[in-house]
Parts: sequence; structure tokens; C-alpha cells
Amino acid sequence: MEVRVRYAPSPTGLQHIGGVRTALYNYFFAKANGGKFILRIEDTDRERYTDESLQDLYDTLSWLGVKWDEGPVVGGPYGSYVQSERLELYQKYAKQLVEDGKAYYCYCTPERLEKVRQEQIASKSQYQGYDRHCANLTAEERAELEKQGIKPVIRLRVPTEGKTTFHDILMGDITRKNKDVSPDPILLKSDGFPTYHLANVIDDHLMKITHIMRAQEWIPSGPLHILLYNAFGWEPPQYCHLPMVMGKDGQKLSKRHGDTAVRDFRAKGYLPEAILNYVSLVGWSLDGSTEFFSREELEKCFKLENIHVSPAVFDYKKLDWFNGQYIRAKSDDELASLILPYMQKAGFISAEYTEDEKKKLMRLVPALKERMKVLSDCVALSAFLFEDKPCLEKETYIAKKCTEEQTKEALMKAGEIVLADSKAGLPFAETEAKVCKLAEDMGIKVNGCFQPIRVAITASTVSLPLHDSIELLGLEETERRIKRAQELFN
Ligand code: GLU
Ligand code: ZN
Repeated sequence: MEVRVRYAPSPTGLQHIGGVRTALYNYFFAKANGGKFILRIEDTDRERYTDESLQDLYDTLSWLGVKWDEGPVVGGPYGSYVQSERLELYQKYAKQLVEDGKAYYCYCTPERLEKVRQEQIASKSQYQGYDRHCANLTAEERAELEKQGIKPVIRLRVPTEGKTTFHDILMGDITRKNKDVSPDPILLKSDGFPTYHLANVIDDHLMKITHIMRAQEWIPSGPLHILLYNAFGWEPPQYCHLPMVMGKDGQKLSKRHGDTAVRDFRAKGYLPEAILNYVSLVGWSLDGSTEFFSREELEKCFKLENIHVSPAVFDYKKLDWFNGQYIRAKSDDELASLILPYMQKAGFISAEYTEDEKKKLMRLVPALKERMKVLSDCVALSAFLFEDKPCLEKETYIAKKCTEEQTKEALMKAGEIVLADSKAGLPFAETEAKVCKLAEDMGIKVNGCFQPIRVAITASTVSLPLHDSIELLGLEETERRIKRAQELFN
């Protein structure tokens, strides 16, 4: 049997790390098994729907290089793949359930439901939820309510006795008492729109989905979905609920931890390869040790059995590390074109991108490559070449555990060494050795000598390697900046 899986997001917000991981796992599983990856848009919640989030979904998947075999835009044999275009279908199937006695029309007003709820609270009733008021209306009673023009909803008849079990590939059997399943949930709303449960189950069946891989937060819906499959007389697909993605503190990953929207990672200059690689490892591993995977490799080696059962932690530092690795693996040409937009936005390079600018950028790239974690770092790291904003706060020059006096001395002596050696064209290793000796004689750490020089030249404590900075800036300008810093301390 052909593997058919789907990613079924609701376009009500930006694609986030957890959602994208679900998409990737489905996609890799389909590819690794020669199956089909289907994209379905679950857009029946019209109040929360936005065009922007639908566009963001398309942008994110194409940025990651994930192509769907069936779905919106590309079509397929079971379309439409957009739920709001399938309303008649859901209505037809809901009516069929009513005819079969598995579901019924409910005419209760919101006011009545609210009153029931308040009464349940007041009487501390064990029974919570809809009171099945309309479960056994006679044809006459219904006709009377219809005459009053009340538009009914359709509710599923959930058995009050017994249990429902479904099997999860990772979690094993999950069983709930039917009386704990929400009493007679709405399947079809009075405006003819389905609820998530109805549309989701019908579509998974009609689209011949074989495996459902989705976030663990959907587990509570599992028993209800099984009851729905039973009501229709359909075979449910296999389930594989994915472990939660958490922050380091063990809480569900959210904005409190940092960026969660893929769009924001992208804007900062994370590479799609790095996101795809790292996100795949949040809750999955091949052998517990291999770290680098390309999309093509994952399309071959992904196995469900290797998904971890326990919650996974999203580690921002680890992602930065991966991104740095992928940046360093880029050719200079590739990296230049990746950082160009950032440099232009910062005003360091013109829109024309002249030959001279290109030369300058290409000289800069090898040094940047060593230091960048994300593409946008290029702006702060290279600012000193494009603008001269001297640092006027003495504290910035003073390294940890150094005094102002020592810093002044370092600036004078190390400054002279650096300038003299550079003029003489000596290899930087020699200069470094001399500065180390100087620091030793002064009884301070070597950074006590290098930090003031770095700040003098780049106005920042984080910068490109010093010798690259000097070379890129030119000797004359380097000298001018070192002298200026010396004066600041005089
Ligand atoms: N539309 C649901 C979501 O937004 C789909 C859940 C499922 O995969 O069944 O996550
Ligand atoms: Zn009712």
C-alpha cells in the first residue's frame, strides 16, 4: 500500500518551528517510502483565517525546498485540497450520519447552552457539557423548530458507555472512556461550516491518508476521531503523534523563548539548510550521533521508529552553531550574494552594486565567513569599514580586570607594535607574539592589549580577526584611528 501523508495547517498564524517540523517529518516519511506528501489547507475557521498566513505557509515550504505532491496550486486526484472549497461534501456526509442515526440535529440557542453550563457549575454537577437536549427529538418537534426558522447544528451521538482505543505508533494504545469524550460535539455548524473534527476525518479518509503525523496536542481528539470513523464505517489511518517541542525550561516553545516564526529566523539570516537540518533533529535522530543531514539525505533515511517519544528541546545555541557551519561551507561567491541584501539595506553598498563595491565585498567575505552566525551579522561586523563612528566611552576599551592606566599603556605600546609591524609587512603571528610578551611584562591578560586596539579600529569589542580588520581598513586609516584612541586616553 502506498504511503500517503499530509500536512494540514490552519492558516491562522505564521509557520512556526513546531509546525514546520511536523511538515518535514511527514514529507521525509513520504519520500523515504516512495509515497505521497499532501498539503491540505484547513481554513474552516474563517474568523481566524488570514491571507498573510496562507502566503507565509507557501513561502516557508518553498524556502525549505519542500514540494508537495498533491495540494493547492499543484492539484491532485482528491481535490480540492482547501477545506473551504469542500463545504458541500462535509454537509453531505454529516447528513448521512443523521440518516444513519449516528448524529442528530440540535436547535439549542447559545443562551440555552450557557444557562445549562451555569447550572452545571452551580450544582457542581459531575456531568459537564452539552446535555443532549435534542438527542431524541421527534419528527414533529423538529418540524416545529424548523418552522420557527431556527438553523440547527449537527452533533455526533457519542456513546455513553464503553471505551475507545486507538493505537499510536510511538505511544502505544491510548484508551479513553466514552463518557469522558466531549458529549455530542458539533460536527456541522448552523452556517453549514464543518468543525475541525468532521472535516479532518472526512478529508483524511477521502484523500486516502495512511499515516497521521501531527503534534501531540491533538491526542485528546484521537478517541473522538475514532468514534467518527466508526460512525462512518471507515478504517482509521495509523497514528503517530509527535513529541512536543519545548524551550530549555521545559515549557512549550513560545515567543518567550525567542523567535518561533520561521519568517523571523529567515529575516535574521538563518539558512534554509540549517533550519531544515536542525529542526529535523529536534525529536529525531538516525543513530544518535550523525549531525549533518541534507534534505536529500533525510528524504532517504527518515524512519518513524527513530522519532523520540519524549519531548524535544529546541536549543537556539545549537541552531546558531549549525548555521555558522553552513555559512562556512558556502563558497565566497555564494556568501557574497547572500549577504548583499543586508549590506544594501544597511546602506553600505549601493543599489547599483558597482564593480568597486563588488571587489570590496569579495575581499571582506572570507573574514566575515569565520565570524558570522547569521547572515545579518555581516552588518555589525563590517560597519567599521563603511562608517567612522569612533567609540568615545573609555570603558569599552578597558578589558576585564584591567585598569584605565594599563589600558592607556597597552594602547600606546601595543599600538606602536601593531603599526610598526604592519608597515614592515611582518606576518601577524609575529606581531601577536610581541603583544603577548608585552601583556606578560605588564602583568595582564593578552586581551587587555588587544581589546583597546580592536575598539580603536572597529569601535566594537566583537569584530573580525584583527589582522583582517587592519588589512581591509588600510594602514593609513588604521594608524589614524589608533592615534585618535591614544589621544582619547591622554
Ligand atoms: N488543522 C490542524 C492544525 O492546524 C491539523 C491537525 C491534524 O493534523 O489533524 O494543526
Ligand atoms: Zn440541542
